[in-house]
Amino acid sequence: MSNVDRDPILLTPGPLTTSLATKTAMLRDWGSWDSSFNAVTARVRERLTAIISGRDTHVCVPMQGSGTFSVEGAVNTLVPRDGHVLVLINGAYGKRLARLTEMMGRRLSTFETADDVPTTAADVARALDADASITHVGLVHCETSTGILNPLAEIADVVASRGRSLIVDAMSSFGALAIDARKIPFDALIAASGKCIEGPPGMGFVFVRRSVIEQCAGRSTSLALDLYDQWTYMERTMQWRYTPPTHVVVAVDAALEQYIAAGGQAARYRRYAANCEALISGMTEMGFKVFLDARVQAPIIVTLHAPADPKYAFKPFYDEVRKRGFILYPGKLTQVETFRVGCIGAIGPEEMRHAVNAVRDSLRALGINMGVATAGTPRATATARAA
Ligand SMILES: *Cc1c(COP(=O)(O)O)cnc(C)c1O
Repeated sequence: MSNVDRDPILLTPGPLTTSLATKTAMLRDWGSWDSSFNAVTARVRERLTAIISGRDTHVCVPMQGSGTFSVEGAVNTLVPRDGHVLVLINGAYGKRLARLTEMMGRRLSTFETADDVPTTAADVARALDADASITHVGLVHCETSTGILNPLAEIADVVASRGRSLIVDAMSSFGALAIDARKIPFDALIAASGKCIEGPPGMGFVFVRRSVIEQCAGRSTSLALDLYDQWTYMERTMQWRYTPPTHVVVAVDAALEQYIAAGGQAARYRRYAANCEALISGMTEMGFKVFLDARVQAPIIVTLHAPADPKYAFKPFYDEVRKRGFILYPGKLTQVETFRVGCIGAIGPEEMRHAVNAVRDSLRALGINMGVATAGTPRATATARAA
């Protein structure tokens, strides 16, 4: 069946392709004061918290807006105004976390590794032991700008053993990669509706350790992003403070119902891993090279080197693939020409194989040579000459 007469499949890490049931959940209007809507909000918070087994330790505070609003809310609500945050960076989202921390007026230090190098627990131990004034550590679990996975559990242990507080941006990993609050010590973990839960974009949520958020009154320098206020208001009234994204909330509720019915986090991980495997094997067979080492590649989004052929440019390539029913994602690296393909969304390995075929047909249509080392291709000749 052709995809051309339908919406294209989004191979992007949010917004992503949602199921029909999730889309149709948005066909109703809800009053934000109505008890039936408040019950949906309560169920969503409960189901989200269950995914990290956080019921005994953490509260789920939903927040209007894209994921960054929740990251900013978490930093601004948790970190005291004289706090000092060490942000661990190996990509654009780490840089964004550092930038917003500074803009919220908190003292900032950074530890940066290359885009393809995970931060290690030893790096963090060294940085914390060298500076006793650091109160908080900010970590991006899966850095979506490449797809690299940082070792959350090991880093969390180091931060906890030194008595500091950990804030985790788990936006693109939550729901797909196992995160158990009973085993991994963190004070805040942030994710959003339009990623691995497979809802529409429009709300974020922060899991905050209950004993921590209880101490956070009056810290925020922002009215709208004050998680403490949002939390206490919601506990008191069952309602969102300020207009809720009603359609998004009910769609997330529907998405969570499907998530649970399909087997929860373990099943989601398996499907994404199968998507990632189908993508990488098909693309490498065609001659593409994956940017990251397989050991640090999360099955969320894959960064691929652009074809070396000078005829290649991302925009025409994107347009050709789009004509065939798939939306790719541009690269986010400054040093090397890359593009990205998301493995997440309401799709399976069959769609990934179709996507690989769409890429193959697009390259052919554009006359782009992948330079696979077969006799007669220009690349093979050039390599032979160079040798
Ligand atoms: C998607 C994402 C965010 C949030 O980005 P928004 O554009 O605000 O939704 C933050 N961090 C990571 C790692 C992400 O993947």
